[in-house]
Formats: sequence, structure tokens, C-alpha cells
Amino acid sequence: MANYIYIDNFSTTPLSPYALSQMKDAFSLTGNAASPHIAGAQALFRINEARENISNLIGALSSEIFFTSGATEANNLALRGIGQWGILNAKERNRIIISDIEHKSVIETALSLTDIGFDVVKAPVLHDGTIDLVQLNELINDQTLLVSLMYVNNETGVIQPVWDAVRMTHQHGALFHCDAAQALGKLSIDVLELEVDYLSLSAHKCYGPMGIGALYIAADAPKPLAQNVGGGQERGLRSGTEPVPLIVGFGAAAQEAAGKLVDDAVHSARLSAHFLAKLDAAQVEYRRISGDAPTIPGGFALIFPNISADEIISKVSKTLCISSGSACNKGAVVPSYVFKSMGFSDEEARSIVRFSFSRFNTLEEAEQASLILIEAISALRS
Ligand code: PMP
Repeated sequence: MANYIYIDNFSTTPLSPYALSQMKDAFSLTGNAASPHIAGAQALFRINEARENISNLIGALSSEIFFTSGATEANNLALRGIGQWGILNAKERNRIIISDIEHKSVIETALSLTDIGFDVVKAPVLHDGTIDLVQLNELINDQTLLVSLMYVNNETGVIQPVWDAVRMTHQHGALFHCDAAQALGKLSIDVLELEVDYLSLSAHKCYGPMGIGALYIAADAPKPLAQNVGGGQERGLRSGTEPVPLIVGFGAAAQEAAGKLVDDAVHSARLSAHFLAKLDAAQVEYRRISGDAPTIPGGFALIFPNISADEIISKVSKTLCISSGSACNKGAVVPSYVFKSMGFSDEEARSIVRFSFSRFNTLEEAEQASLILIEAISALRS
């Protein structure tokens, strides 16, 4: 039992006991899924079972799931792989559009494609953290190869209007990629309804293990060029021996999430409501930075005017795990580009803290977390 309260579930979620038990069992298997014997067949069976569970969670076919080491690699495979595919197959399309608030693994990957001739354009977001669909629509043209928009932002919890963005993208014959790392297991995802071409997934954001994720590739979408070549695993798209226990853990977490989607959402929303009610009762000065924009259940970011988020975080850090989107660069605190692109000044962005409750948090923890925070803020204010 941890002696701290963890409400930093945008960073990573606890491993579910069920996923852990399935992984323990898989660690005792010896086989390599590529081997032509009973041990290999057993490993392959466990991998296929997991692939099925993951595909069921997003309404895909199991043949549309390609395992990677996480969402970072899935984003790299989608963006680089499609960029390289485009050079060979759609030369006239040299524009790639991402949003201002994508995860670094999308931003940096997209920017790296300028080296091979792509024009990379960033679509802005509105003050509430949702993509500006009007601006996005103006940016998409017939030279666009790919649009990449995340499902849920990892600093604000804001759910993006992916469905609308997909429609705009397809009207111009372009492809659509969605980084759904923060949405998997939190929101009901149906790839057929959304009509996304590519979707990145990560296990450790939905109670599975770190080090495993997947890229969904729609059956009728072009295959990205492989970024890892070698033994030809994952149907040639991602070489490297499949990590059976991690894949099994991911599959178990996905299976469990499918059955708990509604209960988890109700639970996390209840805890966050309780937590915020306590802050209100103590008259803590704060604002939800995403206004009325929809957020994932239990996930949100708050601004505490004129207090440094990093001071709050470090004051409570021994008992309460929370974080800000700021980064440390050569000793200086650089405010989050996500908050900046929503229109917050540097100073305001430095006062924003993100919170995310999980399936495993309790009401007592939500209560205790609010008390720790209230005490820290009042100490910093006085
Ligand atoms: N995209 C988003 C939106 C994320 O929140 C994260 C994890 N912080 C990633 C991608 C990277 O995922 P992974 O850790 O699986 O590489």
C-alpha cells in the first residue's frame, strides 16, 4: 500500500491487479511467437488473444492492430511511415497538419518530416483547449497528406472534436491519424464510427504495463513504411520479437477496461466533483482552465492565480502526486506550450496544475488530496 496519494494519472496509471496476474502467468511461458513448435504456438495464442481484446475495445478487427513499444512509437510509425509512403505514392501531397497541443512525440516527428520536403502546419486551439475547427478547415487543402489530432489532451483532459476533424480531412482526400493515448479505456472509442485511418494507443495510460502500445491501421488505409526493419514481425511493420508478457498485460487491461468503461467514468467523475467541492468549501481561488469544454471523466487542469504550480507541487510532493505541464530546461522552468497555445501568459501558465483521478483512487483519497492541497495553498498565500 503506497503511503502517498496518486492523482497524476495523465502521466501513467497504476497497473491493474488483473493485468499483473495475467502478465505473471505469461512471464513463465518460454516460447517465441515465431517458433514452429508448441511453445511458440502458445506464445502466439496469447498474443492473438490480446490483439483481439484490444481490437474489441476500439471496434476494430484484430488484424488492424500492430504492436509497438507505446504511443510514442505508434506516433512515429504513423507520421514518419505515412510521410515516407506519401513521398513514394502521393508526391503532390506535401502538407502535414498537426495541432498546437499535440504530444511531443507527434510534434517532433512531424517537424522531422520537413527534412524530407514536407510543409508542417500547426492548427491553433481555442481558449478552452479544443481545436479551432474553422482554422483547421482552412488549413486542409488538396495538397494535404495527413492530419494528426489527439483524442484527449494529456495536460487539460479536453476531448477533441475528432469526428468533425476526420470529416474535413477526408473531404480533401487526406488521411487522418489520432493519438488516442489518453482516451483509451476512458472513453468509448469506435474506429468505424470515427473513420480514423490510424489511431495510436498506449497500455500504461489504461492500467496496463509500460513499454507496450499499438497502432491501429484501418484495413483500407495505406500501410505506413516500417520504421523498424528486421525479422518482419507484426506483418512486416514492426520488426522485433514480440514481448509476450507486456502484450498479454495490455490485452488484459483492455479487456477489463471494456467491462468497466461506465463504472470507471462514474467513479472518477464522482471523485473529482468531491475534490473540487472541498476546494470550493475552503474558498480556494482557482479556475478550471478548459471552461465548459468536455474533459475525460476525472481529468482536468486548474489555474491557481498568482501561485507557482511548481511551488504547490513541490510542497505536497511527499504525500500527493500531482504535476504541471512545465518542463525544466537548463535549470529554468519553461511553461507548458499547451497552456501557452490556449492563450495563457507565461505567468498564468506557470500557475496551472493538472489532476487526474483513476479507477483505483478512493473517495477518502480525494478528500485527503483536497485537504493537502488546501493547506499547501494557504501556506503559500500567507
Ligand atoms: N501521446 C499522449 C497524448 C500521451 O499522453 C503520451 C504519454 N505521456 C504519449 C503520447 C506517449 O506514450 P508512451 O508513453 O506510451 O510512449
